[in-house]
Amino acid sequence: MTPMMMTPTEILAKLVSFPTVSSETNLPLVDWVETYLESHGVASHRVYDETGQKASIYASIGPDVAGGVALSGHTDVVPVEGQDWSTDPWELTEKDGRLYARGSCDMKGFDALALAAVPAAVAVDLKRPLQIAFSYDEEVGLLGAPGLAAAMLETFPNAKAAAVIVGEPTEMRVVSGHKGCDAIEVHVRGYEVHSSLVHEGVSAIMNAAKLINWITDQTTANMAKTPDPVAAMFHPPFTTLHVGVINGGTASNITAKDCRFNVDIRCVPTESGADWLAALRAEAARISADMQAIHPDTGIDVKLFAPGPGVKPEEGGEAERLARQLTGDNASHTVSYGTDGGHFQEAGFSVVVCGPGNIDQAHKPDEFLEMSELAKGEVFLSRLIEHLQN
Ligand SMILES: [Zn+2]
Repeated sequence: MTPMMMTPTEILAKLVSFPTVSSETNLPLVDWVETYLESHGVASHRVYDETGQKASIYASIGPDVAGGVALSGHTDVVPVEGQDWSTDPWELTEKDGRLYARGSCDMKGFDALALAAVPAAVAVDLKRPLQIAFSYDEEVGLLGAPGLAAAMLETFPNAKAAAVIVGEPTEMRVVSGHKGCDAIEVHVRGYEVHSSLVHEGVSAIMNAAKLINWITDQTTANMAKTPDPVAAMFHPPFTTLHVGVINGGTASNITAKDCRFNVDIRCVPTESGADWLAALRAEAARISADMQAIHPDTGIDVKLFAPGPGVKPEEGGEAERLARQLTGDNASHTVSYGTDGGHFQEAGFSVVVCGPGNIDQAHKPDEFLEMSELAKGEVFLSRLIEHLQN
């Protein structure tokens, strides 16, 4: 097969032409990446989701030894519905030094840079491997990353990467950490009676309110704590609990049978998301007991919809050290959005977040990537390949 020689911009144009919104299949994109890698003599592997309609794709270039670097990207993008775009979101449009398309910034730009680096990586004598790690469903709860990290450890037992670079948009600044974000669904099950007999019924809404009050109190209490040195790197420097969606009830004169709400817990990396979930469950159980004293078929179900572990800043971690060496950025940065990185760190990898573009441009209509950011990314990747030859 003739090697497919393409610039990062050409690859980006190809990647954004696949409308890989998280709700849709990403397989056409994955097929294309596989063909591209194959054209450079690089074998790739996949991890499918349970539907078989989405897959992560990963590959290792260079010798089968430890100490290499994995480039972590995601293939999915957020929807464009209801957004007023002035260009076709699925076609890369260049204007005033910017590349417009859904996913140009978050984060197919980095994916394109990683793929564009492949021919150079293949051509030289790498002492340690360069690895590609592209996930699915990052935008809907980091669902692909745990399986991807596990599969890479299994497929390359001798070639565990010493550093994972997550190329989410940081304007190529070295970001050493972010908070965790666990998405939780709560279902409060009440008992319906006429509201004039409220003492015989159990209102799902009134009991949901009790739990929501507790949630509010936790954030207030966290705000008053003195942050530890790691928490102090984040804005705000404490764990937040928030209810963003609530639904319940049918009429003002019926005690509500159902109330559902969603909670997100954004946890500083020195606290445990699992501990916060356990505390939420304990409070839900306490309220449930009061509800069940009135009617047994009531209660509160708390379901962890999507765990999102944070990236903990690593004291002297290899990933951060390397990213600082390659970018020259020695300041310390954290970001407030989540990434696949937490799952890689949980799997035992050293992780840093560093990629082209500004997160302000992500998820919006007319999403764009500055061409200067793509150029910065190219320099970074060529330095990385140089580094892997030594
Ligand atoms: Zn992203």
